[in-house]
Amino acid sequence: MHEKNLNITAIPAFGDNYIWLLTAGGTTCAVVDPGAAEPVLERLEDQGLELRYILLTHHHPDHIGGVSGLLEKYAAQVYGPDDKRIPYTHHICREGESVSLPDLNTEFKVLEVPAHTRTHIAFYGENALFSGDTLFSIGCGRLFEGSPAEMQQSLDKLAELPAATRVYCAHEYTQSNCAFALAVEPENAALKARAAEVDRLRAAGEITLPTTLGDELAANPFMRTRAKSVLEAARKIDPAATPGSSTLAAIRVWKDRF
Ligand code: ZN
Ligand code: FE
Repeated sequence: MHEKNLNITAIPAFGDNYIWLLTAGGTTCAVVDPGAAEPVLERLEDQGLELRYILLTHHHPDHIGGVSGLLEKYAAQVYGPDDKRIPYTHHICREGESVSLPDLNTEFKVLEVPAHTRTHIAFYGENALFSGDTLFSIGCGRLFEGSPAEMQQSLDKLAELPAATRVYCAHEYTQSNCAFALAVEPENAALKARAAEVDRLRAAGEITLPTTLGDELAANPFMRTRAKSVLEAARKIDPAATPGSSTLAAIRVWKDRF
């Protein structure tokens, strides 16, 4: 993997989605999870960029809805999981494979991270993780097509990446996630600091991403299901909770009705 000037910026869509735009100093680019075409087309036009690659983490409409509109204008290559619900994929991405984007002189590793959806994948490289709706800052995705054990396994897989990894998730949910996380761990100093930073950023109209894996391990209750404080909080929902997936299950249920 090369170290160089990969630039990653957010294109907001639908109020709380981010479509990530990747450039490397030239005139070509990639986008991750374009749920809408319009804001991407506008940005590309503005910056005189040509779309070469589209990376998809999962099949939900707010992540793939813009693909057909983008393909009408650009002959981009589409990379995504093995899922018939995504009809546009040129390159199926499987666990451990590398996605090479030569125009950006960049390579990403594919990680299969099921639970939000059965076929959800993440892309990792250049010190960046595109985690879709699996890992959010101070939260995780809802369990639409997987069990708490699968989400635990998926988050454990992401936790093995270097702590300095920058996490680019697909939604601006951080502020509401912090409110919930503080109910779980009111005494967590790293979380309190993150919540204060997020309040300041949002008040200034700024985005709260990327986060880092290290910060998430310190403050995100879904990455901390083996911490004593999170376990004790989970036992208010499920007295039989043990460290790991049953704690994740309990706080996920709690969050869903928070
Ligand atoms: Zn989703
Ligand atoms: Fe989403």
